[in-house]
Amino acid sequence: MTKEERLERKRREIEELATGWGKLLAQQVCPEGVGLDMDLFMMEEIAVTASKALVRGTIETLTGSQAETLGTEHPCPSCGQSCVLEQRGRSIQVRGGSAELNEPVAYCSTCRRDFFPSASRVED
Ligand SMILES: [Zn+2]
Repeated sequence: MTKEERLERKRREIEELATGWGKLLAQQVCPEGVGLDMDLFMMEEIAVTASKALVRGTIETLTGSQAETLGTEHPCPSCGQSCVLEQRGRSIQVRGGSAELNEPVAYCSTCRRDFFPSASRVED
């Protein structure tokens, strides 16, 4: 299986999973069924609100997991000295709105600078 085929398979899995969540969401939002007063625009608003929250939750979870993978120390990219990693919370804008990240950051006392070892770091 090529890389493209694996990516396509993963994309289909994600879509199937999210389609199931959409069905659950519809049941949760309208447990008594859908009244005739709800139009397609309102249905779409429910789905868009949920999808934006899904983007934020996914980004926060994946970046948090990535941050944990980095451990508690990281070598300075300039001098190589091992520095203690700390988590610094910050808000970033993603397609679903504002996401709260715990971003790993370290201070190198030799170089007297902060550095951010996360590969997925968003530039300021
Ligand atoms: Zn350094």
